[in-house]
Amino acid sequence: MSPRLTSRRHLLRQAGGLVLLLGAADLAFGASIVAVRVWPADAYTRVTLESDQPLAATHQLVTGPDRLVVDIEGLELSAQLKELVGKVRSDDPFIAGVRVGQYQPRVVRLVIDLKQATAPQQFALAPVAAYQHRLVFDLYPTQPVDPLLALIREKEQSERAAAQSVQDALGEFIGKVGSQPPVAAAPTAPSSPAPLPAPAPGPTQPPLVPPPPVVAAAPVPPPAPTAPGPRAALQNKIDRLVIVALDPGHGGEDPGAIGPSGLREKDVVLQVALQLRERINAMPGMRAFMTRDADFFVPLAERVQKARRVQADLFVSIHADAFITPQARGASVFALSQGGATSTAARWMANRENAADVVGGVNLKSADAQVLRTMLDMSTHAQIKDSLRVGGEVLGELDRVGRLHKPKVEQAGFAVLKAPDIPSILVETAFISNPEEEDKLRSADYQRQLVKALATGIQRYFAKNPPLARNRQL
Ligand SMILES: [Zn+2]
Repeated sequence: MSPRLTSRRHLLRQAGGLVLLLGAADLAFGASIVAVRVWPADAYTRVTLESDQPLAATHQLVTGPDRLVVDIEGLELSAQLKELVGKVRSDDPFIAGVRVGQYQPRVVRLVIDLKQATAPQQFALAPVAAYQHRLVFDLYPTQPVDPLLALIREKEQSERAAAQSVQDALGEFIGKVGSQPPVAAAPTAPSSPAPLPAPAPGPTQPPLVPPPPVVAAAPVPPPAPTAPGPRAALQNKIDRLVIVALDPGHGGEDPGAIGPSGLREKDVVLQVALQLRERINAMPGMRAFMTRDADFFVPLAERVQKARRVQADLFVSIHADAFITPQARGASVFALSQGGATSTAARWMANRENAADVVGGVNLKSADAQVLRTMLDMSTHAQIKDSLRVGGEVLGELDRVGRLHKPKVEQAGFAVLKAPDIPSILVETAFISNPEEEDKLRSADYQRQLVKALATGIQRYFAKNPPLARNRQL
């Protein structure tokens, strides 16, 4: 169903002087597409076109129905480009489908059919790491989801589901007791709280828009159990929760470090973080928030900003990096340093992690990126002190699981640890570059031990240092 999108007017203009002006050599050396990738996520969907030469493209949004029309110059329709059509997942929050066609000689047109109103960003990235030239389209929602509201809704949903399952179990139990003789019918009552069932899939939520302030009444202490109230009631609920921001490193275009047998850091740290989320959510009064919960890239400053938006009490970045020598082994925990790094290895590691934005691909021209960068250069002494404390607890627990790389919390200028008001640590769970540790990272059993150690360390920190009532602005 390749559409004929040819515009005769354009074609005539092109056939005029332009083609004649270009030498035959120019025509012979068009760019070739090397790969196309789509990274869908709730936050935004990224489309990447990788080519052997820089691509010049223009885009426009067209409504009724919503679609993004992209014209790429100096390109012939190729098999690689056509692959884009099949790379769109049906659950992509933004893209309904893609059509590609040769719009004019040497101009390829992509039509990206959209599922929702979208604010696109287009930018190019110079060759870096394993990549050649990249042309990137990031499709953002025009109405971003309020993460705080989403967190509360998710919590209420899982509490309702838990209450329901207790009720169901109780009903079943009473039913059994009533219908059976009360002999040795030991009911399988769980002795420990069962893991919370995954939030019911339910119908997909409409874009979350904060409801208008209802009445100008004073904040009522017992908020309505289900209906999300105005912002004040939301703040009330948030105040009683300890929020832990979990930050699985890398993602999307940035695979992070890759082990000798091919295990990718971005995948293993996501697995660990998802398990840690479950564990934290099962702790009373605690809630985990993920800076990414799928395989997509989040810029470093945006990770910090996301944690600040939900007023996190703690930020834990999870990694599994590589080192120059395959012998390097053991877990490390890092906090931010205000001055130099505590060791050359720590500095090396920070430089490596800070390069994630270059590989992952940040639109440096976007106003957001600028603002984030300047705002996050205000690290405080108090933040670092708290970070060292939580780091110490986590390191103590990791010591029980396996070998430590260094017996103390190290410090260096990690960009992702720069929230001025949130204790922040970065955990290098192991060296993925070490073949033995790569094997361990892959094993479900080791991941479980790691998750348990991280959760216990976090819990111990909060037991000793209960978070102060929040007085930050929303
Ligand atoms: Zn990393």
